[in-house]
Amino acid sequence: MAILEEPIKEILKIKNYIDGEWIESEGDIKDVINPATDKVIAKVPISTKDEIKKAVEAASKAFIEWRKRTPLSRVRCLFRLKELMEENFEELSRIMTMEHGKTIDESRGETRRGIENVEVATGIPSLMMGYNLEDIAIGIDEYLIRQPIGVFGIIGPFNFPFMVPLWFAPYAVATGNTIIIKPSSEVPISQVKIAELVDEAGFPSGVWNIVNGGRTVVSGMLDNPVIKGIAFVGSTPTGRIIYKGCGDTGKRVIVQGGAKNFIVVMPDTNIDRTIAALMTSFFGNTGQRCLSGANLVIVGNNNEFYKRFVDKIVDTTSKMRVGYGLDETTQMGPIRDKGKKGKVIGYIKNGIEEGARLRLDGRKVKIIGDYPEYCFLGPTIFEDVTPDMKIAKEEIFGPVMNILRVKNLDEAIEIIHNNPFGNAASIFTSSGKFAREFQYKVQCGNIGINIGIAAPMAFFPFSGMKDSFFGVLHGQGRDAIIFFTESKVVIERWF
Ligand code: NAD
Repeated sequence: MAILEEPIKEILKIKNYIDGEWIESEGDIKDVINPATDKVIAKVPISTKDEIKKAVEAASKAFIEWRKRTPLSRVRCLFRLKELMEENFEELSRIMTMEHGKTIDESRGETRRGIENVEVATGIPSLMMGYNLEDIAIGIDEYLIRQPIGVFGIIGPFNFPFMVPLWFAPYAVATGNTIIIKPSSEVPISQVKIAELVDEAGFPSGVWNIVNGGRTVVSGMLDNPVIKGIAFVGSTPTGRIIYKGCGDTGKRVIVQGGAKNFIVVMPDTNIDRTIAALMTSFFGNTGQRCLSGANLVIVGNNNEFYKRFVDKIVDTTSKMRVGYGLDETTQMGPIRDKGKKGKVIGYIKNGIEEGARLRLDGRKVKIIGDYPEYCFLGPTIFEDVTPDMKIAKEEIFGPVMNILRVKNLDEAIEIIHNNPFGNAASIFTSSGKFAREFQYKVQCGNIGINIGIAAPMAFFPFSGMKDSFFGVLHGQGRDAIIFFTESKVVIERWF
């Protein structure tokens, strides 16, 4: 059990990055804790209203020149940023494990996914093109151009500290806008490290800003008329506040909210491959992923299949190595903090009280290595779960698998339909007919067919439906380009 070298060796004093300068905040200071070791690794400011105002002013000023730069000149900064991210790939990944708790492999995967968004955004000179038609009337041509809009706010959640802001930031700046990122104050370090690379990459001052903090910064963004739009990722209740606030001030908005994802297993599936995929789906990122499996729905009356399948899941899960993510043999890290762990334990108690059968109790987990237990919780499995139970309905956001049993695919689809969330759903089957029916009928934004985590690549939008998403356009890909630009139509005639 060798622990990789920790890149954070002393407590970091986090500053805001405004107008190309690292500025100390006058706000209160909060500890950032490594959830595996329970050690303070950074101090983050909860910035004031005045500080967010200054960042908006800087971004607004920078917009004037940045939007005049050619698209090629803008993406040259992104190419340089991508190179710097590659050079710092391992350090960025280890920092993420230290601040969030996820395993080093999960962090490396996240770093890769984040960089892919920078790569896709370097295609802006082609992707941002409009279209035209000559002779819409005799001698008159019409064309559509896309123009940048101004200053955008980007608000991130705690569970993907590096990647999520990159679903938006590269597209926003490549199209000619300027940005202010507010990372989750629980995990601010990754975005600060990105901003250091942004600085080195030669972006002009004020194009890319970071203001750390919480609600004050968010309300400072919502209230400020200079901010033209907000891209938010987080829980649905917070998302509703953002959506309403943007509506009140006429801003564009993307709100990607919470989730409760169903994974449906048909009895014709390949058991070994399905179970391998379910392990990452339910327990990857310690279940703190908006695409995580939450409810496992096993279809059919075949008791022999059901028993064999469930016994094998319980057996495989019980062997998972839970420990510090910087140990490369760790398969599941801690939960981000004690409060979140307490919330998950509350749900485990609810499940027991409601009559679900606890097949694997994560509260009794044995941690690999000598770490305080505060944030650790092992994978947990409930059987005999019914759709009306609290654990089956609400987002737990932890390593808990609820197993439900239904007669047929129609019943499985009906249960999914009745859940208010619509982020993701997957089916495991060897039947094309069932797969087609599932993707056709299920009202979720991200569908997996024999895939446990239906995470879209950077060149596709990260979708979502029902209570998991408010807005029209999504992060990533073409949707992000449309979100960050205004269409202007020109009709032209020459005398
Ligand atoms: P959260 O809603 O608590 O916080 C998200 C952001 O909003 C943070 O930056 C936080 O500081 C800020 N915030 C929190 N409360 C606020 C308030 N009352 N007013 C203004 N700002 C506030 O979410 P979280 O716990 O950080 O993240 C987990 C949630 O994010 C889960 O629900 C998960 O499903 C969701 N998520 C969704 C997606 C997606 O693409 N749909 C991706 C990742 C995470």
